Amino acid sequence: MYDFAIIGAGVTGCSIARELSKYRSDVCILEKDDDVASGASKANSGIIHGGYAAKQGTLKGKLNVLGNRMFEDLNKQLNFGYRKTGGLVLGFDENDLESLNLLLKNGIANGVSDLKIIKNDEILKIDPNLNPQVKYALYAKDVGVTSPYEYTIALAESAVSNGVELLLKHEVINIKQKDNYFELSTNKKTIKARTVINAAGVYSDTISKMAGVDYFKIIPKKGQYILFQKGTGSAVNSVIFQVPTKNGKGILVTSTYHGNLMLGPNSEEVSNRENKDTNELTLEYVIDAARKSLPDFDIKKRLKTFSGIRPAPSTGDFIIKEEYPGFINAAGIESPGLTSSPAIALMVLDIIKDRVKLEKKSNFKPYREAIIKPNSFDAAEIKRRIELPSGSERIVCRCEKVTEGEIVDALSRNIIITTRKAVKMRTRAGMGFCQGKFCRPRVDELIAKIKKPTRKGERQFAPTRSGKA
Ligand SMILES: Cc1cc2nc3c(=O)[nH]c(=O)nc-3n(C[C@H](O)[C@H](O)[C@H](O)COP(=O)(O)OP(=O)(O)OC[C@H]3O[C@@H](n4cnc5c(N)ncnc54)[C@H](O)[C@@H]3O)c2cc1C
Repeated sequence: MYDFAIIGAGVTGCSIARELSKYRSDVCILEKDDDVASGASKANSGIIHGGYAAKQGTLKGKLNVLGNRMFEDLNKQLNFGYRKTGGLVLGFDENDLESLNLLLKNGIANGVSDLKIIKNDEILKIDPNLNPQVKYALYAKDVGVTSPYEYTIALAESAVSNGVELLLKHEVINIKQKDNYFELSTNKKTIKARTVINAAGVYSDTISKMAGVDYFKIIPKKGQYILFQKGTGSAVNSVIFQVPTKNGKGILVTSTYHGNLMLGPNSEEVSNRENKDTNELTLEYVIDAARKSLPDFDIKKRLKTFSGIRPAPSTGDFIIKEEYPGFINAAGIESPGLTSSPAIALMVLDIIKDRVKLEKKSNFKPYREAIIKPNSFDAAEIKRRIELPSGSERIVCRCEKVTEGEIVDALSRNIIITTRKAVKMRTRAGMGFCQGKFCRPRVDELIAKIKKPTRKGERQFAPTRSGKA
């Protein structure tokens, strides 16, 4: 019997799991996919939003601001990669200025401190490559960028190293309420838990319904992106937004944490929650809209396109509450869910503490080492390392200069991974110009060499039972 079963290993579930792992209790995460960060937490803009856009009085507004303030410290503990860049919301005429003033007012009401409206010359001083016709901008100094999947992986690794059991490839298919616990049927086995936390992203309405709560729906909204080659991100210093429309924050232009220029996302309601296709017509719209902010980017440096699906709730706000004793929804976590995630976890913890006595662990380990080690190899060093025989110094991925040591590290951690995709998210092997053509066989070799046999089905880690909540 677990004290807590969390459904979904996205950023919401993993943040909650890490927070719970600070206490003496038995916690598991049930994830239907073969890795963490498989839903919206993998494919999003990676922006740590300032907190001026989400409406005052909403959970989104409150948790965005609180979450934003926690990222610097979290990154010091978990080393997933985060950089404060500042953000500019561009305005081109007096109507836009009106919208910017509304955003400013809303931001101040939400408690955002470093916000101001600036004009053309100051804007172009901060970001010289922007459209010179820009007249006004809301400048939010607290905006930042992160790598969303590396952040989620870091949270999960930290949770697991503190005793959380991560059950991958366990899809919850039914929930039965018993006297003082729940029985969760999965495609693998049945699990018992005293408290269930629903963090199932686009399927959070389905899970909620299984638990007998169906007052909301998830309206899946796809966003498509174009990613450019590494280095192109230097075209902008800040995250560049446009004035929001009824469809959301509009098309943004940003550098990813790793220095790739990225344009997107649009917003379109979709019926299929799994369909991640992109289409050229939408991408053309994204390119045109982005050119309004940044007129000169080299489309020939386009590397790939991708999309993510927002778990937009029909209620319009995050749904974070105990619906009845033991069943907690952390549902409909659309944007700014990545930014809000640490604050969502604290809110869920507060909800739990109202009903359950939790005892802090004395041996909680807050730190987690980075997998990707920064390097500045020159051309001669790269050539030398590529030609090395197998060993930790050898470069396996030429484009991203990923060493064998980094891949072996990723494969040897406490979350058992067996796929190229999982190695790619953790090390960037295959993310570069050749998109893995060169390194694929070598990555496969390393996976085959290091892959651990799974014990007890897909169990990833057997924690020592650490007492009851
Ligand atoms: C296009 C786009 C852009 C965005 N940009 C930003 C941004 O810049 N900044 C920001 O703050 N936020 C952004 N967001 C929002 C952010 O990505 C989400 O709020 C966040 O990732 C939601 O995390 P989650 O864990 O709730 O959901 P998910 O990451 O989707 O995780 C849910 C998990 O539950 C699992 N699951 C589902 N059903 C079951 C089941 N039956 N059994 C077991 N497991 C199950 C899924 O496989 C999945 O892994 C963006 C989102 C999108 C789509």
